[in-house]
Amino acid sequence: MSLSVYDVWSLADEWGPEKVVFVYDPDTGMRGVLVIDNTAIGPGKGGIRFTPTVTPVEVFRLARVMTWKCALAGLPFGGAKGGIMGDPNKVDRVAWMKSFAKAIKPYVPLQYVAATDMGTTELDMAVFAHEVGDVRACTGKPSEMGGIPHELGTTGYGVAVATDLTLKMLNKFGSISLDPREATVAIQGFGNVGSFTAKFLDELGYKIVAISDITGCIYNPEGLDIPHIMRDLQTEGSIDRLSRYEIYHKEKIFDVKSDVFIPAATSDTINSETAPKLIKAGTKLVIEAANIPTTSEAEKMLIEKGIWVVPDFVVNSGGVIGSFVEYKGGTEKEAFDLINYKITTNVKLVITLAQQNGSTPRKIAQEIAKTRVKRAMLLRRGAIDVAREYFARQKSLYEFMVPDLRNTTHP
Ligand code: NAD
Repeated sequence: MSLSVYDVWSLADEWGPEKVVFVYDPDTGMRGVLVIDNTAIGPGKGGIRFTPTVTPVEVFRLARVMTWKCALAGLPFGGAKGGIMGDPNKVDRVAWMKSFAKAIKPYVPLQYVAATDMGTTELDMAVFAHEVGDVRACTGKPSEMGGIPHELGTTGYGVAVATDLTLKMLNKFGSISLDPREATVAIQGFGNVGSFTAKFLDELGYKIVAISDITGCIYNPEGLDIPHIMRDLQTEGSIDRLSRYEIYHKEKIFDVKSDVFIPAATSDTINSETAPKLIKAGTKLVIEAANIPTTSEAEKMLIEKGIWVVPDFVVNSGGVIGSFVEYKGGTEKEAFDLINYKITTNVKLVITLAQQNGSTPRKIAQEIAKTRVKRAMLLRRGAIDVAREYFARQKSLYEFMVPDLRNTTHP
């Protein structure tokens, strides 16, 4: 694992990162990194990834996704991400989380507001907020602390809303020929995001034919019984322990015939080795529930074959939208309503513009997000005239921006 700061600095560009903070605690052995990518719009928002394999470069790439995600969702946050390098189930996770919180406290919450990500839960957020000594230190806290925990399934809910709407729109435009009522879905990763995506899609009537986690994959072309599996997993813990199913290797998920593939695990799982498998399996649509699950090479391969890829920062913003409602002191219902509203608005906008311009959802969404961040950066510099001129040149795009920029409150 590379720990060199130069790896991250070599990726620095006109957007960031503004700060890269490496921390190490010789008492506990905790090693971590905080990347604050861009704070032009507001404090950097992003979860803490706690895995043995997380690298500073990965944390930087995730922080950048947060910059675009918050801008696209019209939230008053910038982009950031935390990383703790260790297995939370093998180390003293409370001691490590406290140690990480203490080390990065000078930046919290004015420049960084934390949340959960892979390997962290609402309980870690409780520890983090207590150690910083400020409830605004993070979101995704337990409800006892006034939080709206991600464990309610906010991100998965948004992913399900995005999947359903995308399929309906692409079908209406004739971009793919698939009756949404007949669509089959495969989901890679069955943690917080994957399991709730499955739950909400199941409730919408979709047929989930395969799911996987780090231990294995289960498959049934007739559709899996998702509520039953979720109940079983509460006691069994992982897919390889589900005795009623034949367990396949986790990579089988790429070979299963399905119309929609939803990566909800870790970074770069759709790559030049696995993309050809998805093409062969007849995938028509990829919905990026995970952050940065598709390498750019793989995305190119998929697009060349007419497969639509709807990017992470459009579809998985449910968690951060819910976080914003928590930050404002709102309720769970307000969180779910706002997620539905914002994701519906953005998916409509991005798919329509991609369709009309022969472009991709990623390019369109990035253009909108970049324009918003650029404007905030110019205003931060006090360059109001330059900002006006910049926006005059971007007039057509700016027209699309106006409604969403105002929609930072509950509709
Ligand atoms: P999690 O730790 O709850 O679950 C991760 C799941 O992925 C587990 O089931 C794990 O076994 C599985 N997994 C890991 N590597 C795998 C592999 N190689 N093959 C198959 N399965 C694998 O994490 P999460 O919170 O659900 O996050 C999943 C993804 O969603 C991450 O990319 C995260 O950044 C992104 N995300 C999470 C949130 C959130 O609210 N938690 C919000 C936005 C985006």
